[in-house]
Amino acid sequence: MSNFANLKKQSKLGSLTEKLVKEVEKMNNTGGSTDERFWSLTVDKSQNGYAVIRFLPAPDGEDLPFVKLYSHAFQGPGGWIIDSCLTTLNQKCPVCEHNSGLWNSGIDSNKEIARKQKRKLTYISNIYVVKDPANPENEGGVFLYKFGKKIFDKLTAAMQPEFEDEESIDPFDFWKGANFKLKAKNVAGYRNYDSSEFAAPSPLLEDDDDALEALWKKQNSLAELVAPSQFKSYEELKTRLESVLGTKGSRRMDEEVNDEDDYRGPAPSLTEDLRGELSSLKSSRSVASDDEDFDELSYFAKLAE
Ligand SMILES: [Zn+2]
Repeated sequence: MSNFANLKKQSKLGSLTEKLVKEVEKMNNTGGSTDERFWSLTVDKSQNGYAVIRFLPAPDGEDLPFVKLYSHAFQGPGGWIIDSCLTTLNQKCPVCEHNSGLWNSGIDSNKEIARKQKRKLTYISNIYVVKDPANPENEGGVFLYKFGKKIFDKLTAAMQPEFEDEESIDPFDFWKGANFKLKAKNVAGYRNYDSSEFAAPSPLLEDDDDALEALWKKQNSLAELVAPSQFKSYEELKTRLESVLGTKGSRRMDEEVNDEDDYRGPAPSLTEDLRGELSSLKSSRSVASDDEDFDELSYFAKLAE
């Protein structure tokens, strides 16, 4: 087989995309990050990684120790759309509206597209890096950290333990919180954070209030990450969506169903099912493997543009 024929065969198999994604991941792992305020876990080739981090309290003048951000990241015939979703601001989002239309069409192939294009949820907090074996220079630093629902669930579980023999902790507390042992491993080809866990509660920085106050002042604003100025307008997003989808003119979608949660239906387990389905879809491998892959994905998408 000629090299060119081989290239074409690989294209058909989707292995070129896979290769590219792997390369980008490698670049990310060697400091290819675009925003130095953000820390991310370095993983080895087999997706295994370990670090100890501490979630930090709400920054000075802000109410919450985390912000919630919805975004869209997918590829259409006209390229990629990588944008924050306006539902983050409780506003109407043209991408979500388009997806609702697809979902409500009742056609299976449309539903599949809606799944691929759905908004993804990430949380962002300030963290203190206690231990980062792959990048020791990060230790002692304050960073922003973007994480998905799995880790957020571990934070809420720590605040509201399931069993009465478990002490509730505020994982964002300087004095009564606990270090978080972030453990990534490869499960069926995808990065998985299930093994991550809290250490026993202990004050940060040996309970030294002066040091803690200095640390607190180094924290990044979270509110500004989700300030309306960080978002494209409805019209801008709609124009981008149309160019990505290669459509001209737009269809009016039902405003009542502009939230993905509305079409998840009554079964609470559907989210997990959906995740499983996405994971098993070979074609979506580079697109929607896990919330945690968001960094790599946006980087890859920018590169592809
Ligand atoms: Zn949206």
